[in-house]
Amino acid sequence: MTSVELRNVVAGRPVDGRRTFPKHSPVDGALVAQVHEAGPEVVDAAVAAAREALAGPWGSLPVGERATVLRRVAERIEARFEDFVAAEVRDTGKPEHLVRQLDVARAALNFRSFADTIAAQGLDAYLTDLADGRQALNYAVPKPLGVVAIIVPWNLPLLLLTWKVAPALACGNAVVVKPSEETPSTATLLAEVMAEAGVPDGVYNVVHGFGPDSAGELLTTHEGVDGVTFTGESRTGSAIMRAVAPRVRPVSFELGGKNAAVVFADCDLERTLDGLTRSIFLNTGQVCLCTERVYVERSIFDRVVDGLAERARALRLGRPDAEGTTTGPLISRQHRAKVQSYLDLAIEEGAKVVVGGGVPELGEDLRDGAWIEPTLWVGLDNSSRVVREEVFGPVAALIPFDTEEEAIRLANDTDYGLAAAVWTTDLERGHRVAQQMRVGMAWVNTWYLRDLRSPFGGVGLSGIGREGGTHSLHFYAEPTNVCVQL
Ligand code: NAD
Repeated sequence: MTSVELRNVVAGRPVDGRRTFPKHSPVDGALVAQVHEAGPEVVDAAVAAAREALAGPWGSLPVGERATVLRRVAERIEARFEDFVAAEVRDTGKPEHLVRQLDVARAALNFRSFADTIAAQGLDAYLTDLADGRQALNYAVPKPLGVVAIIVPWNLPLLLLTWKVAPALACGNAVVVKPSEETPSTATLLAEVMAEAGVPDGVYNVVHGFGPDSAGELLTTHEGVDGVTFTGESRTGSAIMRAVAPRVRPVSFELGGKNAAVVFADCDLERTLDGLTRSIFLNTGQVCLCTERVYVERSIFDRVVDGLAERARALRLGRPDAEGTTTGPLISRQHRAKVQSYLDLAIEEGAKVVVGGGVPELGEDLRDGAWIEPTLWVGLDNSSRVVREEVFGPVAALIPFDTEEEAIRLANDTDYGLAAAVWTTDLERGHRVAQQMRVGMAWVNTWYLRDLRSPFGGVGLSGIGREGGTHSLHFYAEPTNVCVQL
């Protein structure tokens, strides 16, 4: 694999950083890129470029034309689909088919969806009856937030980035994005697509680097940033909140999860087992929505354990382009060390390993990758740290329950609150239990099925605010209410 050099992008131009850092493939440890880390000067320049773009033609572009630009971005992503696939695969090591179906396809859809949302957006207006018989007209004029900092993680790099860039641009903002140090490629490529689609220079800027003492912190503490939207770990969200607090800037946070599945004895077992397999192991468990806790009604507990173990054993770990590969590596050796520490902890806490539990033997050429076995545990309960803390790997603890009330209590017994899935053929029960989940998103008989207009986000440690459709507009646009006495 030949390595590439990735630079920051400021006002449409590539800019060197204060130093470069290497990015290695999680598949085999090969060097895939040298990345230019943005220091204070580059971050200053990126924020200034975004501010300048707001003062230029972008700042006064009519909504309909902004929507047209977003649709062109979607078309250009599709035109360069294979470039994006190659870049994402190189950084993440995910199976190619997954990147095609999930990551890159969703990136184009994100731009189309927010083009539709903004084009259909009306005004929030009220005709107010006054005591003297007269009336007042209230209407709220949406305005861009300004310069928006967008900081995203490595698990779905392009998907999560465009999920924020699209609504930010739809609302007329200019952005400075900081992709994860682990996945710098697609954000850089997106800058080329922005230019091809006619997005003015400075509307989309990219700064590369790490969090603390690097581009991330420089951005969140920057005077010129009007709002921060972030996806990543809850702990990082807390640090960013502290960083923006002195200047009282708005934040939107999509954070970690420790998501539960609740499986009732009346479920369609085959469908449930297929759904659970996907929800535990998709993207090697590195989706914020992934299930790490599975509560199963006792009468079918053994059948669920056996069925899931069989499916976990059938997963094929391998190179992204190898035929039949279902599962890639973790993102890095560093992340694997964290996941391994939970595999060890599970044993200390009394878990019985049903399947997996270690580092797989995949041959000499993959020895320097970040591979881990899909793992299932029984014998743990909610008091265990492994059941309470987010692992962010292909792991789940299976725990039996006896009553619906107990299942709800166990599922809600967490500091997180991102997502849950309920598996049952009793639809009344499905609605009843799903509504009682203390989460942002609850699915019944499915998982990760999304309508991009619906609210996405979490409660508790899982986040602040909701994004998706008009919900995103609440963050990326600031209304000025005008009240006219008639
Ligand atoms: P992370 O918090 O370590 O890093 C995310 C981004 O923040 C990276 O770009 C990183 O460089 C930057 N960053 C780190 N420290 C920073 C700081 N102090 N100031 C500014 N920026 C900083 O998360 P990660 O390991 O990249 O991603 C995995 C996490 O993301 C998991 O917890 C997962 O659940 C979460 N996640 C949540 C959602 C959601 O929608 N709720 C989606 C995907 C991932």
